[in-house]
Amino acid sequence: MGINVLQRGRVRHGLRAGAVTAAAVLAVGLASPAMAGDGHGGGGSNDFQLTVMGTTDLHGNALNWDYFKNAEYDDSAHNDVGLAKVSTLVNQVRADRGDRNTLLIDAGDTIQGTSLAYYFAKIQPISTSVEHPMAAAMNAIGYDAAAVGNHEFNYGIPYLRTFEKQLDFPLLAANALDDGTGKPAFKPYVIKTVKPAHGKPIQVGILGLTNPGIAIWDKANVEGKMHFDGLVEQAKKYVPEMKRKGADVVIVAAHSGADTSSSYGDTLPFPENASTLVAQQVPGIDAILVGHAHQEIASRVVTNEATGKPVVLSEPLKWGERLSVFDIDLSFARGRWSVQSVAAQVLNSNTVPEDPKIVGLLQADHQKVVDYVNGVIGTATEAMSAATARYEDTAALDFINYVQAGAVKAELTGADADLPVLSIAAPFNKDAAIPQGDVSVRDIAGLYIYDNTLLGIKLTGAPVKAYLEKSAEYFKAAPTPGTYAAASLTNAVTPTAPNGTPDYNYDVMGGLDQPLTYDIDLAQPVGSRITGLAYGGVPVTDTQEFVVAINNYRQSGGGNFPGVVGAPVGLLRAAGAARGPAGRQARRDRRPARRGAAGARAARGRGLDGLHEGCRRGRGGRPGPVAGAGRPQGDVTDGRRPSVGGAAPAPAQCFTITARRSRPDDHGPADRGLTITGPTVTA
Ligand SMILES: [Zn+2]
Repeated sequence: MGINVLQRGRVRHGLRAGAVTAAAVLAVGLASPAMAGDGHGGGGSNDFQLTVMGTTDLHGNALNWDYFKNAEYDDSAHNDVGLAKVSTLVNQVRADRGDRNTLLIDAGDTIQGTSLAYYFAKIQPISTSVEHPMAAAMNAIGYDAAAVGNHEFNYGIPYLRTFEKQLDFPLLAANALDDGTGKPAFKPYVIKTVKPAHGKPIQVGILGLTNPGIAIWDKANVEGKMHFDGLVEQAKKYVPEMKRKGADVVIVAAHSGADTSSSYGDTLPFPENASTLVAQQVPGIDAILVGHAHQEIASRVVTNEATGKPVVLSEPLKWGERLSVFDIDLSFARGRWSVQSVAAQVLNSNTVPEDPKIVGLLQADHQKVVDYVNGVIGTATEAMSAATARYEDTAALDFINYVQAGAVKAELTGADADLPVLSIAAPFNKDAAIPQGDVSVRDIAGLYIYDNTLLGIKLTGAPVKAYLEKSAEYFKAAPTPGTYAAASLTNAVTPTAPNGTPDYNYDVMGGLDQPLTYDIDLAQPVGSRITGLAYGGVPVTDTQEFVVAINNYRQSGGGNFPGVVGAPVGLLRAAGAARGPAGRQARRDRRPARRGAAGARAARGRGLDGLHEGCRRGRGGRPGPVAGAGRPQGDVTDGRRPSVGGAAPAPAQCFTITARRSRPDDHGPADRGLTITGPTVTA
């Protein structure tokens, strides 16, 4: 029976000719008579087929909409996104398998990632009277359980608890442990009862596991409150407990990728991506819904080392682009149900229309966000694209560095105020494009897509160079001069290299008052690629002191960059810190960070995030500096010598960007930042 399912899955993938055709094939396929027999629990059979559906890494995608582009979502593979599409797939599977024979789970990263998610965290935060659209949609679709993802912590634990209360189903995380009690901070598992038409009910245990990396990535939000154990360690504890409590089937929802690896090296004793290890090392698991890695795995069979039994993994890509479907055949003998076989496949949400019920439910929320992100918050004298930011100096990344460095510099006092300020920025989104003319919230949000906070750290020249060497690992070696396509010269993540270096772990560094310039020589081996490192045209010495504007993800160890975790650090006092909940949070957050500071008064703010938030406030009739973003009004040049503190902002416009570069290749020795040498890199 499992083979039938897989074959139908292949047929459907091959028939992606059009939504109507594909949807029709899906409906026919799922209604196949081969599936409608005794396996569904009818007719007093000793066999039963349970179907567990799963999503993961929804990242705030409710409707099939791209808020950055202000258009229906599309990409080169013509994927579709969002819970409204997922709902249609779920309804079709339920109709085919029988509603009562199915469960629906998620593997985490639900509440961060789109402008919709941002809006309901920062602009109109969820509360007892404001429901999160993701909660509304997931409740309406009828989820049974979800694992906690690392991004669930981005807006702090109280926010996550508010979201949790809005759900009609439990959030699970067996390895998120309360610092005070040592006990799980969330339910570790839930046991659902599925009732066949005849015979004894089936107990389905669902264990939730989250990612140990939270301790690094969201250190500011979880330190002193929660700690995170290994997935294998906690699964070994809870799977036997679930069995003792009667679980006939054990499913794991794991916010942890399948291919064993850690972006944080050995900073933590527990691997980041451990789903395969869980399958191999923990006896008694039948299937794992994999998340976190944003990969598509229709079905992967892993053999448990102790029992020799197969464990089936499936990962439904991300953002609601796929739905994993596990068909689990059970048989009843000697008084209990036992799993005979598991088959998994993924369904593609681009084969179906959105569920009008979910669209209707979320229409008002969606419209509020569309209106918000289209609000104009500035002007740009020239367009700035991030398309080539991975391999050449661009005004777009310089803009990020300029805003960040300016915000940090504004906070420095005493001797620190005389230190040169540098800043790091990564090409988060190569589709980002600041247009000439009016700049809206969505343009800025598309350029800086993560909900990071800004800090300042002190570094000397030697670690600055080591940091850039680490960043340059993003590139492959190019020993032969010539012209290379960027795709062939980076170690970026691709479908065939899922463990590559994500673009967000490649940083470009720039200077605020003077240019920081360097070459990356790709003819040289890793560790010896940075040449000509200079500040203001003068070679950087090993002991020269800098303040570096850096985000919380990187500073707390994300990407495993050297030198930054132990560097003197402080939090940025956001310009808006004196007022409002964000200000209170900033003041609360400042205390622990100062405890660990070795003298630097650096800072926490909200970088570009604060930029659009502050401008929104400014439009409300309070002109002045942009909250959390220093003084971005004034010129932002393509990098090296911005003129700071220009005219006071116009009431309706918080900043003006002047991208001064006249030609893309106009980088004289005094103006250029990063230059790749050795090969010529092209798109
Ligand atoms: Zn994710």
